[in-house]
Amino acid sequence: MNTPITFTVAVLPGDSIGPDVIAEGVKVLRAVERQLDGVRFELREYSVGAGEYLKSGDPLPSATLEKCRECDAILLGAMGLPDVRWPSGVEMTPQIDLREKLDLYGGLRPIKLYHPHDSPLKAIGPGGIDFVIFRESTEGLFSARHNSAVPADAALATDTMRITRVGAERICRRAFELAATRRQHCTLVDKANVLPSMAYFRRIFDEVSRDFPTVKTLRIYVDAAALYLVQKPHAFDVIVTENMFGDILSDLAAGLIGGMGMAPSADLGDRHAVFQPSHGTAPDIAGKGIANPIATILSVALMLDWFKHPETRRGAEWIRQAVAAVLKEPEDRTPDLGGSRTTTQLGDAVAATLTELCTAVLSGSSSPLMQNQAILCSRGSTCSQP
Ligand code: ATP
Repeated sequence: MNTPITFTVAVLPGDSIGPDVIAEGVKVLRAVERQLDGVRFELREYSVGAGEYLKSGDPLPSATLEKCRECDAILLGAMGLPDVRWPSGVEMTPQIDLREKLDLYGGLRPIKLYHPHDSPLKAIGPGGIDFVIFRESTEGLFSARHNSAVPADAALATDTMRITRVGAERICRRAFELAATRRQHCTLVDKANVLPSMAYFRRIFDEVSRDFPTVKTLRIYVDAAALYLVQKPHAFDVIVTENMFGDILSDLAAGLIGGMGMAPSADLGDRHAVFQPSHGTAPDIAGKGIANPIATILSVALMLDWFKHPETRRGAEWIRQAVAAVLKEPEDRTPDLGGSRTTTQLGDAVAATLTELCTAVLSGSSSPLMQNQAILCSRGSTCSQP
């Protein structure tokens, strides 16, 4: 028995489909917890988002932000409601406020295809898409969001791409560190042929690259990146880019693996981190109980990695293996992937599969799930046997 340790998690379900997918993420987290030795999760739920704005006039009350700061991690659903806006007309985005207030500069967007059926691309095998986008999340073009609203009769509107040395250097360094643990390849996506701010970003990428001599590098323009991501996604390992380019390419990349419901994310700082599905509030499917919970469940796995404890890392791997096992069955999908499962049914399937997988391994039996695990391990995933 390991010395018991408790990780505190601020849970922010948010609006629309947020609470539905978070319920499944928490269900899987609890299923993992039952399998881990000496690790507990204390979940503290807070109200943040457009619903909270309607109640208190503030979508991210400062007392709640302080409570979030005290936790080891933040698990977030989705925030915003189409008809709830600031008087200026812009949407509420407390999830972006959190990134800025907690200095979460590293937007990690893992893009992994679990089953070839879920990709719109032809002739992609299992493991054919497996890369990570590292999106700078505190500056870039998004920093212009603090500009005042432009009057309708104005003759000019400008937004500035803000790149600082500190901001560019730390995101490039994190990207190289990650590439060094993966396939040793780091691609910079920029627009250095047109924008001086991007030429500056590239210079800093080049400087940082010298500290990582084993990592091969590639520099491509964002328009070419959009092309290559579709034509040869297997060529990418880690991609680093500024905020807005990362925002756009993350959605394109999610499309390669089945859509927004399949794409997890983490917003990492040096001290704090938020884990959330890459998708938004999906107003078109709100209240129907059919939101795909896989992105949220895989975000829970990222959170377990972030805790950097051997047991939670093991738990993260269990989650990925359970998701892979569930997605082997064509019917085990929500309607966005052509299935007929509800959000709850798919979450139940992942939690039950995880429990079955762990039980089979611990008892040394050779159930079909055990064989599935053996296949996963032989494919070179970071399989960790208990
Ligand atoms: P936001 O501005 O909050 O990002 P959006 O509508 O622009 O909202 P998403 O909420 O990400 O963007 O939705 C984009 C598309 O993906 C929609 O068609 C939505 O139904 C779909 N989608 C997003 N999340 C899921 C999910 N978890 N399950 C199924 N479909 C989803």
